Amino acid sequence: MSLSIDMSHLHLPAPAFVAGVRVDRISQLQTLDAIEQIIALRRQQNDQLPCQQVVTLNPEFLMVAQRNNKFRRAINEAALVVADGMGIVWATRYLREPVPERITGTDLLPELARRCAAKGYRLFLLGAAPGVAELAAERLRTLAPGLLIAGTYAGSPVPNEEAEVIERVRTAQADVLCVAYGAPAQELWIYRNLSRLPAAIAIGVGGAYDFLSGRQQRAPEIMQRSGLEWLYRLYREPWRWRRMLALPQSALVVLLKGRGKS
Ligand code: UDP
Repeated sequence: MSLSIDMSHLHLPAPAFVAGVRVDRISQLQTLDAIEQIIALRRQQNDQLPCQQVVTLNPEFLMVAQRNNKFRRAINEAALVVADGMGIVWATRYLREPVPERITGTDLLPELARRCAAKGYRLFLLGAAPGVAELAAERLRTLAPGLLIAGTYAGSPVPNEEAEVIERVRTAQADVLCVAYGAPAQELWIYRNLSRLPAAIAIGVGGAYDFLSGRQQRAPEIMQRSGLEWLYRLYREPWRWRRMLALPQSALVVLLKGRGKS
């Protein structure tokens, strides 16, 4: 599903394609404006507007998308795909279709929470280990006073729990559904349930609750700004080394495939 509402006032350039995977050339502020507009529109239409998927694309996603067609389709058909990770920002620059900035799920979430607090929109935090979403919700309430947390639930991405999870979200009357099951599980979960998700926006946020809750520590600001957040994460969580090979691998894939759009 591509974005079914008019975003022409944002004057966005055509999306970039990196090895066949779409990335929108959008800033964090524009992303927040677009999300806010989608929520407002769905409320105006008495919840008739179908749920819209937002993807935060990093080099690991890019590598998985090379071999997993369903995952690639989920990304390319999403309402919004933002560049999460300096690897993606660099790739779009190399391909001369630069995105304006990096937008991580962890940075986006507090800003989104502030927008929701200002408008009375309701946020549901799904996923992560039991208890973590609750701690993240508490932190978000501090960062965004007045925020309405529609609900929190660890749950799991397994298909036979979907109906129950969706019922919880419906009862909670959420506008925004954040899903922390890690990639590609969270994107595939959202994609296959999109037509029945009772929210305006569903966004995969990866480890965002772990960072917000203080369970994981984020890289110092200077490392984040210089594109070295991955190095810090490797130091904190060395077991990730195999997954992090995605960074050099994705650089190679970009060199070999370029835009890769058929
Ligand atoms: N997670 C989960 N259920 C699962 C797999 C993962 O709740 O079956 C959670 C995990 O606890 C973590 C989040 O998904 O909070 C994201 O995991 P990870 O940090 O590996 O994702 P990334 O940010 O690297 O995409």
